[in-house]
Amino acid sequence: MQTPYFLIDEEKIENNLRILRGVMDRTGCKILLAQKCFSCYSLYPLIGRYLAGATASGIFEARLCHEEMPGKENHIFSPAFREEDIDSILSLCDHIVFNSPRQLQRYGERAKAEGLQVGIRINPECSTQEGHAIYDPCAPGSRLGTTSAELHEYLAACREKSCHTLIDGIHFHTLCEQNSDDLETTLDAVEEKFGDILSAMKWINFGGGHHITRSDYDIERLERCILRMKQRYSLDVYVEPGEAVALNGGTLHATVLEIQRPGADGISNVILDTSAACHMPDVIEMPYTPPVLSPEQRDGGYTYRFGGATCLSGDVIGTYSFCQPLTEGDEIVFGDMAIYSMVKTNTFNGMPLPDIYIKRNGKPVLWKHFSYSDFKARV
Ligand SMILES: *Cc1c(COP(=O)(O)O)cnc(C)c1O
Repeated sequence: MQTPYFLIDEEKIENNLRILRGVMDRTGCKILLAQKCFSCYSLYPLIGRYLAGATASGIFEARLCHEEMPGKENHIFSPAFREEDIDSILSLCDHIVFNSPRQLQRYGERAKAEGLQVGIRINPECSTQEGHAIYDPCAPGSRLGTTSAELHEYLAACREKSCHTLIDGIHFHTLCEQNSDDLETTLDAVEEKFGDILSAMKWINFGGGHHITRSDYDIERLERCILRMKQRYSLDVYVEPGEAVALNGGTLHATVLEIQRPGADGISNVILDTSAACHMPDVIEMPYTPPVLSPEQRDGGYTYRFGGATCLSGDVIGTYSFCQPLTEGDEIVFGDMAIYSMVKTNTFNGMPLPDIYIKRNGKPVLWKHFSYSDFKARV
């Protein structure tokens, strides 16, 4: 197995799916895979055995769900749909969620005529995350979701024309890697601002950002939140996590190409055959420092700064300390790489894309091999 490569562990994903299925079974809610985080369709048959279906951010993901998770629910949301795509989308999907009353007016009737459930994404204007404005759809100036004032204005204007009956459900997505106490806070805001219309709805979709499979996640509180909306407003509840499905479900393997002499700060730069910029762009964008699972780490041990084999000075993965000194040729294993990293890779600098292996019944099987032609085809 030549580095760099991703290794997706089917057993770990299945453990996550069991947890999510437990929530569905105990509450009667429906959980969907948000594909944007993990479109590893080799596992869609497995995911489809546990979850209700998938949700898409656009036509390609909707098509992928249709092809690889046939018969399961296919949902879609986009900030705005294109006229060229809408007929295909309506033939592929079961639910469509519009971002604004104007999008709803433009496509809503056609969606209903094709038998889809129609939803509108609301913005409850309730920020529950600090310091992460790019992941906060409730941040000031957000383009995502319809505020209570906008929605009520629209509903008042169309009451005579009875076009308010177009809306079957309400969708919100305001969380990112959060626990259920923040969901509870968000639901308070949703009830306060949209409570008057909830009883007229068939369903509510809690969006994603729920870190349900993280060890400190309060699942009982999530289940209380789900039951509260079911019992108070007779709503079906959808939850569409992405990360929670594949959390800690995969690794990225790389090789030490060169260890430089210690610099002015006393730390040696290590060049790897991977790259933050190309293979784990969230390390720079989010930003965060990915865990190294192997070799074994020790505080105050042998310390190195890991960087990618690209031209970008800021292509730095992080600084790590190990029990033993590293040597050239060592393999480095980064943890929690199934989510987002795999779908966000790029070939900047002509960097080769990591191959993808899937560990099935304990054995790694090559699923995707990428080569020069993939790079050439994309530029
Ligand atoms: C990103 C997104 C999700 C999934 O979010 P995770 O953080 O991966 O759980 C679900 N729904 C919508 C609308 C999203 O934009």
